[in-house]
Amino acid sequence: MKRISRFSTLVVACAAGCSFTLCAQDARVAETHGVVLANIDHSLKPGNDFYQYANGEWIKRAKIPADRAEVDVWSKLEDASNKRTADLIEQIAKSGPAAGSGERKVADLYNSYLDEAGIEAKGLTPLRPHLDAIAAIHDKRELARALGETLRADVDALNNTNFHTSNLFGMWVAPGFNDSDHYTAYVMQGGLQLEDREYYLSDSEAMRKIRAQYQTHVSAMLKLAGISDPDARATRIVELEHAIAQTHRSLAENEDIHKANNPWTQADFPAKAPGLDWAEYFRGAGMSHVDSFIVWQPEAFKGEAALVDSASLEAWKDWLAYHLIEGYSGVLPKALAEERFAFFGKVLSGTEQQRPRWQRGVFVVDGLLGDVVGQVYAQRYFSPEAKAQAQAMVANLIDAFRKRIEALSWMDSTTKTEAEAKLSTLYVGVGYPETWHDYSNFEVKADDIFGNIWRGNLSEYRRQLARLGKPVDRKEWSMTPQTVNAVNLPLQNALNFPAAILQPPFFDPLAPAAANYGAIGTIIGHEISHTFDSEGAAFDSKGRVRNWWTPADLTHFQAATAQLAAQYDTYKPFPDLSINGKQTLSENIADVAGTAAAYDGYRASLAGKGAPAQDGLSGDEQFFIAFGQNWGAKVRDAALRQEVMTDPHAPGEYRAATVRNIDAWYAAFQVQAGEKLYLAPTDRVRIW
Ligand SMILES: [Zn+2]
Repeated sequence: MKRISRFSTLVVACAAGCSFTLCAQDARVAETHGVVLANIDHSLKPGNDFYQYANGEWIKRAKIPADRAEVDVWSKLEDASNKRTADLIEQIAKSGPAAGSGERKVADLYNSYLDEAGIEAKGLTPLRPHLDAIAAIHDKRELARALGETLRADVDALNNTNFHTSNLFGMWVAPGFNDSDHYTAYVMQGGLQLEDREYYLSDSEAMRKIRAQYQTHVSAMLKLAGISDPDARATRIVELEHAIAQTHRSLAENEDIHKANNPWTQADFPAKAPGLDWAEYFRGAGMSHVDSFIVWQPEAFKGEAALVDSASLEAWKDWLAYHLIEGYSGVLPKALAEERFAFFGKVLSGTEQQRPRWQRGVFVVDGLLGDVVGQVYAQRYFSPEAKAQAQAMVANLIDAFRKRIEALSWMDSTTKTEAEAKLSTLYVGVGYPETWHDYSNFEVKADDIFGNIWRGNLSEYRRQLARLGKPVDRKEWSMTPQTVNAVNLPLQNALNFPAAILQPPFFDPLAPAAANYGAIGTIIGHEISHTFDSEGAAFDSKGRVRNWWTPADLTHFQAATAQLAAQYDTYKPFPDLSINGKQTLSENIADVAGTAAAYDGYRASLAGKGAPAQDGLSGDEQFFIAFGQNWGAKVRDAALRQEVMTDPHAPGEYRAATVRNIDAWYAAFQVQAGEKLYLAPTDRVRIW
């Protein structure tokens, strides 16, 4: 599903401003099984506004809590999962775990995060050695070294789709595009605090206003950190970030993997991206021995390296200092954490107050020691029976997909054979992974949260570095069991469905099949279809980048997907901002294909019997309403604006509109020509 793409491995930044959500009023989780009748707005025609029809009454009742940017059914589950995780952490802490054990690290990390008095007492002391080191940089060679030292494993292009790092560059270790049996270093553009280049480059009134507020915020942070001349420095920093933004690829371009497969050796960097002392950079990064990279955005590397040469040493030193302060503000004295929230929480997402400290502490533990907690979580909250049922549903969906591919009239038999091979070798992880991460190299101290975060991010970076060139474990997971999400890992030809998403209302053993297939079934179908979408179609059954399509099949696929992109381009959440059909294309394809396959799976599960009606709703009506209710959401305007610009997923309202492309939806609700969502049969996008 890859629903939340802002979850960065650099934990502190997320803890202060990320967009997890809560919903106290969600009636979807009442003691009923199946679609929630009380959420349906019967005054509306499904064919005019299906999203409001399925969710309207809930939307009228729902209130966004002050510490959230949005509420939806996902956030309710996230909330429950976070509470369970917090309880587990507290139980672990009380059990007096042995020094050096993973459990002891969990307890010490969590408690050191909660120790606000200790953090205030230390003041800026933890920052000082790092700020002193930046101040001591004398020339561009030392600067290159310092920039290299900031490199972390904090981006992820294909699994969790996180393209953002505020460090100069980011690294992702994953199976190689050209050798999927071994891990390779993918390096990506970075250097911006704001999440996307559009924040710096857009001419709109709203964005200009955000930029002015951002510059005020930068100055305020420098002042709070005791740095002289904050206004002048803030001006230089924002100018430098603006110049960096001009070198960046857009999110839509980032998602085009054909533009990303650029293998560079270390010697290519100074030749292709002059201006940065790359030997020093890689020395700082501990990567002098690495000689094989995939450079995701070559022009950004060229542009950013040139800026290291052309911008002043002083500007870069200010930029380094500010980025350090911002990144760690969540574990510095309250004044800094609050100033960060005032901008990244209030201005950028409209959230009124910070989440309670304990919840942010859970995110920190999940980010740095997630598998220690996840192992206990899976044991306690995911039964073998639930696992077996979910696995059966996955098998049914895969079967539905196989039949759809076999029946495609436009696809050549050679392309079908490879599609079939991808399906039959797909690894589907359900609930929890088969092996767990080892955190033995991560030193956690009971009274040093700044150092814990620093060492945690560094230890993860070194763990990833050590994997380079090693054989790939195709069964490795990229999400923890306590995560409410699901993911397709194209380079491993694998799917993960964590325990935390396999529960009501998405998956309820007591609900009618129609509701389960409409809710979790469409999500499972969505993930399977990523195997064949605009990204997945680029990888073969072994995860290699290989064009396995005949030219005629590819032409058909591209025409159909262009039609879907155009459909989404017509949606306008704001007068000055439309959905970007290209940026959200692969997720929208997955929604169309996943819903179609889940519908087939649902009909197949009836084994020729009629679908039982419930509460006056036919089986087909329940199926589509359950799908629509997956996406009911109430979002603050600022957060919605951010989502439209930076998320590869369309907002929930437009995901629910997927049904326009499914024939069975028209029949289920007697949707007629003239109704707003009506599409003539020839205008409905059919991909799989
Ligand atoms: Zn997806």
